[in-house]
Amino acid sequence: MAVCELLSVGTELLLGDILNTNAQYLSQRLAQMGISVLHQTTVGDNPERLAAAVGTALSRSDIVIATGGLGPTPDDITAEICCREFGFELEFDSGTADKITSYFKNKGMEMPQSNLKQAYVPAGGTILENTHGTAPGMGMKKGGKCIVLLPGPPYEMREIFENKVVDYLSEYRSGAIVSHEVRTIGISESGLAEEFRDLIDGSNPTVAPYCKIGEAFLRVTAKADTPEEAEKMTAGVIAQIKEKIGRYIYGIDCKNIEDAIVPMLKKAGLTLATAESCTAGLVAKRITDIPGASSVFRHGVITYANEVKERELGVSHETLERFGAVSEETAVEMAKGIRRRSGADIGISVTGFAGPDADEEGKAPGLIYIALDSADVTRCEKIETGRNDRDYNRYTAASRALNLVKKYLTTEL
Ligand code: ATP
Repeated sequence: MAVCELLSVGTELLLGDILNTNAQYLSQRLAQMGISVLHQTTVGDNPERLAAAVGTALSRSDIVIATGGLGPTPDDITAEICCREFGFELEFDSGTADKITSYFKNKGMEMPQSNLKQAYVPAGGTILENTHGTAPGMGMKKGGKCIVLLPGPPYEMREIFENKVVDYLSEYRSGAIVSHEVRTIGISESGLAEEFRDLIDGSNPTVAPYCKIGEAFLRVTAKADTPEEAEKMTAGVIAQIKEKIGRYIYGIDCKNIEDAIVPMLKKAGLTLATAESCTAGLVAKRITDIPGASSVFRHGVITYANEVKERELGVSHETLERFGAVSEETAVEMAKGIRRRSGADIGISVTGFAGPDADEEGKAPGLIYIALDSADVTRCEKIETGRNDRDYNRYTAASRALNLVKKYLTTEL
């Protein structure tokens, strides 16, 4: 199996100013192509350190893919250093120069002369056309090894990779790797690890548990000669997982719970309204992050103060006095109130202590109640995160509230 090293070039990356999403994207795509990424190196715009990194990468990998540093300014040195280390000369390419000139012309902009630096490409190499920017991608092959240079901006990098590099690397491909995420809420990462110890011990497909804020997921990865075979192998394992913990699963390869429930609500022809206290609109925000949410989301209110819970939702004064704002009783009245007042099919509420400090009554941060009210079901769930992290508690509360909708839609309530 061919071995690839990713070389991310840019001082911005080392300073933490930008996240290395190029490396993430390339690693995922190369794995799908059956090419092993065994090293990811990040290096600043420094000629000596870049040269050393290229030398090391070439000594231990068949393919080196460098991103960034192909711009026109003097600190853009990737092409020059990589060519020198791999024994290629840079030469002026008039075709590339014409493309750069027209690129500026089409935008009605004057081209700085420095941009012609990007028309220097490796003699004997391959130009990997960039249809979205001025710096072309470049490929060089020698003695079974290969270097690919791609511009840093993710949009340009991806376009060139998909349209040119995938073909350029065809001789290095071996088999296919397919990977899927089984996303869950309500079971912990360690719970998943215990439940699927036998699968986790397997080698192909591999199964690995991970956690994110308020949820956990299993990644199922299979390697086979063809994508279809690998797909079949993962499907078998995913079916086993569904059988055991189906009630916790909200989706396969979904980005998040809202991504799963908006289409489910659409399909069921149901509408939703939210009444939020400690999450202050986060549930509504997450639902409306999904395109097309307007057909399912009707109404959302933030009722932080007690008198607003009474006025806007009709929560009774007595309930608030007797049980407190953070209680099952209040959560249920909030959900009923918002459903009644909005005319939505489902009312959702959240009330709790986000932290970081305990409330005046000494109740722990992370104590949250979420409730759902519909024509046929009313349910409340109590959450105790045990954490004093405000962001964590709010995000978890919103995820669990959205998961309550998923449970309702899958008739688990
Ligand atoms: P340009 O011609 O735009 O200067 P370049 O190839 O020289 O392109 P860089 O200057 O290194 O690329 O980076 C340009 C921008 O691309 C960065 O400011 C950053 O926004 C983005 N970028 C660069 N490298 C990465 C990376 N590894 N992951 C995500 N974004 C990146």
